[in-house]
Amino acid sequence: MTDIIILNRNLRLLDNAALYYGSLRSNFIVIYLYDVDYWKANGKSSRQLKFSNDCLEELDEDLKKLNSKINVFNGSFYDLGKWIETNYNYFSIHINHCTDVNYFREGFDNFKENFKNKITVYDDFGLQLNNFDRDTWSKNWNHIMNSDLLDVPKPSNNKDKLNLIRFSDFKNEISCEFSGLNNIQEGGTSKAKELLETFLDQRCKGYRIKMSSPSQSEESCSRLSPHFTYGSISIRQVYQQLNKMLPELNNKKDLYSFKKRLYWHCHFVQKLHTEPELEFYSMHRMCDDLRPEYDDEIIEKWIEGETGFPFLDACMKFLNENGWINFRMRAMIMSFASYNLWQPWQKTSPRLAELFTDYEPGIHISQVQMQSGVTGINLPRIYSISKQSMDQDPDAEWTKNLLPQLNSFDPKLIHNAELNDSYIPQIVDLKSSAKFARDQIWGIRKSIEFKNEARKVYLKHGSRRKRYTKTS
Ligand SMILES: Cc1cc2nc3c(=O)[nH]c(=O)nc-3n(C[C@H](O)[C@H](O)[C@H](O)COP(=O)(O)OP(=O)(O)OC[C@H]3O[C@@H](n4cnc5c(N)ncnc54)[C@H](O)[C@@H]3O)c2cc1C
Repeated sequence: MTDIIILNRNLRLLDNAALYYGSLRSNFIVIYLYDVDYWKANGKSSRQLKFSNDCLEELDEDLKKLNSKINVFNGSFYDLGKWIETNYNYFSIHINHCTDVNYFREGFDNFKENFKNKITVYDDFGLQLNNFDRDTWSKNWNHIMNSDLLDVPKPSNNKDKLNLIRFSDFKNEISCEFSGLNNIQEGGTSKAKELLETFLDQRCKGYRIKMSSPSQSEESCSRLSPHFTYGSISIRQVYQQLNKMLPELNNKKDLYSFKKRLYWHCHFVQKLHTEPELEFYSMHRMCDDLRPEYDDEIIEKWIEGETGFPFLDACMKFLNENGWINFRMRAMIMSFASYNLWQPWQKTSPRLAELFTDYEPGIHISQVQMQSGVTGINLPRIYSISKQSMDQDPDAEWTKNLLPQLNSFDPKLIHNAELNDSYIPQIVDLKSSAKFARDQIWGIRKSIEFKNEARKVYLKHGSRRKRYTKTS
């Protein structure tokens, strides 16, 4: 019996169920499914592929120490199924679950159905795949987080000669796609461990306050998000390390704040797992009629950071260059697109996702919907760009760094975008567009029909954990 372990987004050696259980008979092969169409699907991009390649590179080295290696299968889930049927008679497939975009899910569901008696699908992080119940969800999450970590896989004795590409060759072939991505975070388990260590040791000081500032958050946030997305470290590993060190660490309030975000991660991914249609439809379906039209030219200016509002444009330039920006700025960017520009989130969401190295569809899509006022269970919030600019970059140094043409301007003029002909024309009037948005959103929220539907949304997706409900 050959154990076939398939990798997707859980790219680590330790605490990896598919790798661990698949290795127990010591006769396993490891396959990474590289599907070019997946990397073109809703919100996916080359910066994410680059990060996942870093993770694969380190995992490949780790597996070599166990007499194994990563083999790359170039094709879809369907093609991989055919390859397995052609090459193996007696086999067992091991794969970790992954909540992802529709393209992935369809291929994965058919693959599971095709091999239903020969495949084991393991849970992913704190997600609850079956018998899901929102009332007991957080209790179960705690149980998962506190259970034992899985050990290093057993070495393999498998000697099969496979007609697949070795990861080292694949890596060389694909590296030409990554030019211009030098500032993107580096992937791999050792990078993740380093980030966790420096965060707990030092960087977390002042986390609760600094996380809102685009300049300070770069250093004071954990920066673990792409590592969670590509699984170079598990949330359980981070949770347990944090709990172990908490008694002896100062900054307890900062660390509790970080800890509840680990919970939010899974809480948000669970929403997309429970209702995959959220990729295309608003959580509160009545909201899908709000923004019937879109404008490609306006969306392009927004994504390129050419809106005429310096602080917002600086955020977009920073994100384009670095593949990351803090939560507060992500929320402001999205609020501007959905409220001021009145563009449908279904058009803007994938464009923004492509810029995030950490794109996690479950979190991204839920947050995009929250910041667009279409969930029905969160109070709509329209961010003021000038207030954020003043609060988070008072002397406008950060903005000037990204937009050096504004170096000689007084910070106040930058906050209020009062630069006349010296900067790009504003693509929208902030005051009247915000008023229009408020009227539209609150207009539909008044009806009984809306409230009844919102109650159903809450029962399906709302967090029941009072002290963790801040952004749910
Ligand atoms: C419009 C929008 C889109 C977003 N898209 C993504 C995305 O694609 N991927 C993603 O990981 N996060 C997303 N977030 C949430 C948040 O901005 C990032 O998780 C955070 O900035 C990542 O940086 P960090 O790892 O340093 O976070 P830290 O502050 O160090 O937090 C630690 C971890 O907690 C989790 N977390 C933090 N904040 C949230 C939150 N509000 N909701 C859910 N989980 C959270 C993440 O896993 C994060 O890595 C989005 C937020 C908004 C407003």
